[in-house]
Amino acid sequence: MRDVLIAAMVAIMLTPGAMADDTPRWALVVHGGAGVIERGAMTPETDAAYRAAMTRALEIGADVLESGGTSVDAIEAIIRAFEDNPMFNAGRGAVFTAAGRNELDSSIMDGSDLNAGAVAGVSTVRHPISLARAVMEHSPHVMLQGEGAETFAAEQGLEIVDPAFFFTERRWVSMEHELGRLGLDIPARPEGAPDPQPVDEGALLRDSREHRFGTVGVVALDTAGNIAAGTSTGGTTAKRWGRVGDSPILGAGTYANNASCGVSATGTGEYFIRLTVASRICALVEFEGLGLQAAADRVIQDELTAMGGDGGIIALTPTGDIAWSFNTPGMYRARLTAGGEPLVAIYGDEE
Ligand code: ASP
Repeated sequence: MRDVLIAAMVAIMLTPGAMADDTPRWALVVHGGAGVIERGAMTPETDAAYRAAMTRALEIGADVLESGGTSVDAIEAIIRAFEDNPMFNAGRGAVFTAAGRNELDSSIMDGSDLNAGAVAGVSTVRHPISLARAVMEHSPHVMLQGEGAETFAAEQGLEIVDPAFFFTERRWVSMEHELGRLGLDIPARPEGAPDPQPVDEGALLRDSREHRFGTVGVVALDTAGNIAAGTSTGGTTAKRWGRVGDSPILGAGTYANNASCGVSATGTGEYFIRLTVASRICALVEFEGLGLQAAADRVIQDELTAMGGDGGIIALTPTGDIAWSFNTPGMYRARLTAGGEPLVAIYGDEE
């Protein structure tokens, strides 16, 4: 019996391509924003609610990937759910501009062919990630903004909503606080917004301490071996003058390339744009031969920190290596590979 087993093992080892490869069939990593997220400022209920939302995101992605869906499909499905969840700064629950509007940014990139789509400053599209995907798949362009992007969304049959759909009291009050701090006028409450309601003071404290974070992002590897990455955000509280952050900027907030890795970022976008954080991490992997974690740490812990920037990233390679790196006290994050155990974390002292 022993001889038979040894013979079988030798036969397998001598068969070209039959050596076991530890690349998982699929893999998934998600974030829900980084910032000053500390145990002391979280109630057990809020902590549990964020963990449940991250776990749900993994389940949604696992269902898509397990049934043979593409990495782009998984990203769109997960981010649509985040965009509907007011706990996150994306879709409903997005932060307000100084003019009292929600201006949403999103992008998606397919690492198999470097195709990509992005949208900036949309106020009537329920799921900006689906619009980014439509730009990628059904337009000759890569990035659309404002009214033109909204016209394209309507032409594509995407769900259009009244701008008041995105209103949440918590984000409105955070914007009022920020404008007060900056000594700027408070805009009129948007038409169609519900009457003012009391807001949980703890949530407001967290918002101010979180420095506006809550962006969402996903990087996925599908069963065909393709990487994709996507990001969606309302940007930064009380942003002005049509400000656009890194989230819809390919190479800054989102990047995917089967030759190296996929990345989605969150943090103060101005720094991520200047450092081209997402493509820089992938370039270090591709051209310098750095491991994914080392590349991510070099860009986030060393370079971003040296510039005075704050935030973090999630990343994934086509062989299923997953990394995250952030220089803030916390980042909502979770990961799962086919056949593995889900890992959900919030604070910096967790794995
Ligand atoms: N990176 C986003 C932006 O600057 C914000 C965030 O990640 O919280 O628009």
